[in-house]
Amino acid sequence: MLTCPSCNSEKIRRGGMAIWLVYLTLIVFAIAATLVFHLNAAIVAGIMIAVVVIAHLVFNQRVCLDCGHTWRN
Ligand SMILES: [Zn+2]
Repeated sequence: MLTCPSCNSEKIRRGGMAIWLVYLTLIVFAIAATLVFHLNAAIVAGIMIAVVVIAHLVFNQRVCLDCGHTWRN
């Protein structure tokens, strides 16, 4: 069981600010791609899923729900 290195809490999850910035960027990109560039929605969805998977591998970050500490492992 993983615990927070800062406060030893077990209430941790994957995430952190970086992953949310990626999600926000993806949503903006998806809207722009479908509305402005008229890309196929299925292709855009496929790209988004791929980027989310890659982002989780790159930003392998965990966040503590008790103290807000984020760290890589
Ligand atoms: Zn903590």
